[in-house]
Amino acid sequence: MPGAGPPQKHLLLVGGGHAHVLVLDAFARKPEPDLEITLVTKAGLTPYSGMLPGHLAGAYRREEIHIDLERLARRSGARLIRDEAVRFDTRARRVCLRSGRALPYDVLSIDIGITPDLSEIAGAAEHALAVKPIGDLLEGWDRLVADRAGAGGPRRFAVVGGGVAGICLAFAVSAFLRARTAEPVQVALVGASASPEINAGMRRRIAKALTRLGIGVHEGDPAVAVDPGGVRLASGGHVPADAVLVATRAGPPPSIRDAALAKDRDGFLAVGPTLQSLDDEAVFAAGDCAAMVAHPRPKAGVFAVRQGPVLARNLRRALRGEALEAYVPQRDHLMLIATGDGRAIGGRGRFIAFEGRLAWRLKDWLDRRFMRRFA
Ligand SMILES: Cc1cc2nc3c(=O)[nH]c(=O)nc-3n(C[C@H](O)[C@H](O)[C@H](O)COP(=O)(O)OP(=O)(O)OC[C@H]3O[C@@H](n4cnc5c(N)ncnc54)[C@H](O)[C@@H]3O)c2cc1C
Repeated sequence: MPGAGPPQKHLLLVGGGHAHVLVLDAFARKPEPDLEITLVTKAGLTPYSGMLPGHLAGAYRREEIHIDLERLARRSGARLIRDEAVRFDTRARRVCLRSGRALPYDVLSIDIGITPDLSEIAGAAEHALAVKPIGDLLEGWDRLVADRAGAGGPRRFAVVGGGVAGICLAFAVSAFLRARTAEPVQVALVGASASPEINAGMRRRIAKALTRLGIGVHEGDPAVAVDPGGVRLASGGHVPADAVLVATRAGPPPSIRDAALAKDRDGFLAVGPTLQSLDDEAVFAAGDCAAMVAHPRPKAGVFAVRQGPVLARNLRRALRGEALEAYVPQRDHLMLIATGDGRAIGGRGRFIAFEGRLAWRLKDWLDRRFMRRFA
């Protein structure tokens, strides 16, 4: 047949998470011939998690912390479909969308983040704002602040969950309130725990900063319920709050729970060192929704970002029928937590820890540099 080249293959990317924005960026920089790319995403803009607390604290405008997926898709020649994947039919090699459409694929990649698990805290679903998935957080935040804007707005916030996200949020919310009113405000961090990612030096600096900023800490006393007036603790105590944010455990989205794909013991998609599903070579997964079973790492944007370029190369190789690259994620990473007062606390591994204005400048520079790629 005249002009008949190799058959066009279809790469289907589901979710506009941190790894997929780097995949799109890689295909924009180096297009692949005879390849059709489709991105299915619930939202046209995806927030960059590193700058999200800074936005709540007032350091960044909303457009500064979002990656424009429409623009990125255009640049990489991908078709963007604003929809939600609800079922992964891997046997028929197609993904079913909420709209009723079904999209076939040759190679599928999933990067859809995680869903909050509020089941252990009674009343949280009704009375608190879950901070994950991060794509939905800002919408909920706007509603929360607007709904209670009367009489000066919420003055007492409680953040439930003492992991990295909870700590970042407590600092951010405190800065938000201090910028909003000169009157006394109250921020509480409930259920603070010794997160293994945070080394002892950082932990000491975080504790000092929380005290300096007047943020109350309820350590080792987890939240058992949220009611309209605040948070009830396991000890029987009650933390009064006008607004409650929950940054505790999160689980896989329902579409993943129902997929006939290998999972780890927490239900996340089990992938090998090539980021391929353990039981389906045509399916890749990255970011929080995936678990690298041979090299487990915390659920953090930084690991999703690191997976992006490897994922791009392996998707390309899989589509070309070439051998794939094995990836071992680094054991630790530079962690920087903004305290919302022009300073940040940083650390790496077990022993390095530092704090100050320079740390905030470094964080700001690194985050802005990352975002410039997508400008
Ligand atoms: C307040 C806060 C601060 C944080 N700060 C940091 C930090 O400083 N550093 C760090 O490393 N990590 C941080 N994290 C963690 C970080 O947010 C996550 O690890 C990161 O977002 C995971 O990225 P991801 O690629 O897995 O997916 P996500 O960034 O969650 O993106 C998933 C995307 O998929 C889309 N999507 C979801 N479901 C579907 C579907 N069914 N169909 C189609 N599209 C779908 C969503 O709209 C979204 O665009 C923070 C988290 C929080 C809550």
